[in-house]
Amino acid sequence: MIISENINISNSLKINSCAKLYIQVSKKDDFVELYKYIKNKNLPYLIVGEGTNIVVPEAFNGIVIALDFNELFFDHDLRIVRAGASVNWHNFVCECIKNDIHGFENLSLIPGSVGAAPIQNIGAYGQEVSKLIKNVYCFDLNTGEFITLDNKSCHFSYRNSILKNNSLVVYSIDFKSDNNKLLNIEYESIKRYLDANRIDRKTLNLQSVSEIICSIRNSILPDPNIIPNAGSFFKNVIIDKNEINTSEFSIDDLIIWDVEDGMVKVGSARLIELIQNRLPKSNNVTIYSNHSLVLTTNAKASQGDVISYANEIMKTVKDVFNIKLEIEPIVIN
Ligand SMILES: Cc1cc2nc3c(=O)[nH]c(=O)nc-3n(C[C@H](O)[C@H](O)[C@H](O)COP(=O)(O)OP(=O)(O)OC[C@H]3O[C@@H](n4cnc5c(N)ncnc54)[C@H](O)[C@@H]3O)c2cc1C
Repeated sequence: MIISENINISNSLKINSCAKLYIQVSKKDDFVELYKYIKNKNLPYLIVGEGTNIVVPEAFNGIVIALDFNELFFDHDLRIVRAGASVNWHNFVCECIKNDIHGFENLSLIPGSVGAAPIQNIGAYGQEVSKLIKNVYCFDLNTGEFITLDNKSCHFSYRNSILKNNSLVVYSIDFKSDNNKLLNIEYESIKRYLDANRIDRKTLNLQSVSEIICSIRNSILPDPNIIPNAGSFFKNVIIDKNEINTSEFSIDDLIIWDVEDGMVKVGSARLIELIQNRLPKSNNVTIYSNHSLVLTTNAKASQGDVISYANEIMKTVKDVFNIKLEIEPIVIN
């Protein structure tokens, strides 16, 4: 375990943020020492992966915990892939594809680490990581114990799991590698891409589907290494259809998927698109031109700049549609 002081917290919004204490953990034995250290210091702590889904303050007066667990192991007999929390998610997906393991290809190019994937149950293009996870191996910073969560115990739901805002540090995950061999290409934007590019569905394989996903993502999402952002800043909203205020815009102006019993999922990107021109200008934060769910910064924004711009969006959406948006990334106090 390596302890450092006053270290910059790397984050994809490029908020200038400094942690009082920064601890790197690289083996299981370190966790017990870490547990004692945290109890002794009595300071707040923050577990970080690659920082692509956090909105950090200028100063974090606590302990940042970063992991260095990079194992990657394919057990073809047990039909599992074991990956350490620090493995980069996209590299992991590429390794699965090389090993002819289905199910991961639609999650290509999602930024971040393997360890963070179950936290908000990452998902894209009709797939969610919850469908691929067998066991999550954790250390509990509250009790000082190692625990293994099976899929059910993770309580996965849309962009959520029991691991969110929890005291559990994920250090390794077992993924299932026995998924059926079908490609998942029914998602609307994948179908549109195949048709527009006249791609014969029969020619598709894991690699080509992954490339298509990368191509779609690159056309609508900014690369956080070039334009600072944290991906979708708001979740889509599940709401009773009758509660939506249609006095200014009709239901047909919105993007809506039926869920059940009159409940619908409303695409938040379209809501923001429709009210975008009513928002006040911010010096350091803007809505990305190709995707209105993404807030970008000029690398000079503070946490306050980002949150107050998000609040303006939320207030306007609430006033116009009677829909309460929820911020997707984790806002650190
Ligand atoms: C351009 C862009 C596109 C994106 N697209 C998608 C998308 O399509 N779908 C999607 O679901 N998300 C998307 N995201 C969000 C992001 O990629 C995911 O949330 C990712 O899982 C974050 O990984 P990270 O390692 O950067 O986590 P961080 O941002 O470092 O942390 C995120 C949260 O996880 C916790 N955490 C991190 N590692 C651990 C660990 N080992 N143990 C316990 N807790 C941990 C942190 O405390 C924090 O609460 C996108 C982000 C960007 C910038």
